[in-house]
Amino acid sequence: MISLLIFLCIAALFNTVTAGKHDIYSGYSVHGVQLRDRADQKVLYDLQIELGVDVWDHGAPGVNDALVMVTQENVAEFLEKLDENGMNHYLQISDVATAFERYDRELSSWKQSRTNRMLFDNYPTYEEVDAYLERIAAEYPNIVTLVNAGPSFEGRPVKYLKISSSYFNDTYKPVYFLDATMHAREWVTLPVALYTIHRLVENPRDQDRDLLENIDWIIMPIERLWRRTRSFNASVTTECWGVDANRNFDVNFNTIGVSSDFCSNTYPGQVAFSEPETRYVRDILLENIDRIQLYLNVHSHGNYVLFGYGNATLPTNVVQLHHVAAAMGAAIDARKLPQARYYLIGNSNMALYGSSGSAQDYGQLVGVPFSYTLELPGYTYGFLVPPQYINQINMETWEGIAASARLANLYYRARNSN
Ligand SMILES: [Zn+2]
Repeated sequence: MISLLIFLCIAALFNTVTAGKHDIYSGYSVHGVQLRDRADQKVLYDLQIELGVDVWDHGAPGVNDALVMVTQENVAEFLEKLDENGMNHYLQISDVATAFERYDRELSSWKQSRTNRMLFDNYPTYEEVDAYLERIAAEYPNIVTLVNAGPSFEGRPVKYLKISSSYFNDTYKPVYFLDATMHAREWVTLPVALYTIHRLVENPRDQDRDLLENIDWIIMPIERLWRRTRSFNASVTTECWGVDANRNFDVNFNTIGVSSDFCSNTYPGQVAFSEPETRYVRDILLENIDRIQLYLNVHSHGNYVLFGYGNATLPTNVVQLHHVAAAMGAAIDARKLPQARYYLIGNSNMALYGSSGSAQDYGQLVGVPFSYTLELPGYTYGFLVPPQYINQINMETWEGIAASARLANLYYRARNSN
């Protein structure tokens, strides 16, 4: 159901259906909820399961309010439960259909004002991304190597770029590994990955030359194009496709923050690494483990830099982990839009919610010193960030990536000079 709603929503965003297209959201409303402490977070988490409400934004106690979309049928019960728990709430959007119509109008005026858009200023298709990666590899053979990790479940090649000024074989350089669209409805993560390639390869500015001279990069823009993977296993269930790739890694697998409902967005799969796409990420991590200094698993939304572990155990280098994450968040905040939240830095369990089997945790477990989940801004749009914001998100996020790369590089030098 949620997948269907999101599909309709995305289709609407891209103006591919006709007038009255937002009617299914008539009567849906969005409520802001103030969170005082972890107990309030738990109440919200339980309501999400109990009433099936759609949490647009998880918020953070004492810092950011949560945003929750409810239907006409469950709004009364939802608000009653909040009241019972003494939680403050307010109406953020009275009618989601009307709000989406307004977003459409903003989008069409933006489209009219833009003429020659770049690929990474918009939401590109798989084919467009593929052509871009091929072109970059062909035009910059001395610094770019295109690797085909293998086919996705549906048979499309999953490709990534290795970017290096020294043919990727200088062991004194750390590796920065960035991947996007592990949760593919988080569309805005894709242009951020492409823009990173653009700034490293096509349009390096003088001030950024050190990033390629001192560091090797692995960038994987497209893993898949949906929240869940597309695998189908009739011996397990015929009801739903796929699993949550970001619960499918072999680290505390299937323990917390997962659902045994095959159709849930947090169903981790029957076994760890059941999905080809998660195996490709694992293989990149293991192949380069001696040199990967920072792994950035890019998601949206909520403005967070998160680190392990999802069960609230802190890695031994937590002070350094926090340091680099804070530098990344601060660099982004310096360029953020006024209406955007400040980035929140912290352990993923304590700042957000419990999880197991995540890519971030797996990177940390196998020895990446700085392994992060980055949650890009959603403003008030959640997963459906309109394309007129992409350029802003690309640019500000690049600042964070550059800052974290430089600082992680210093730690790498220190580690290797001992
Ligand atoms: Zn995600």
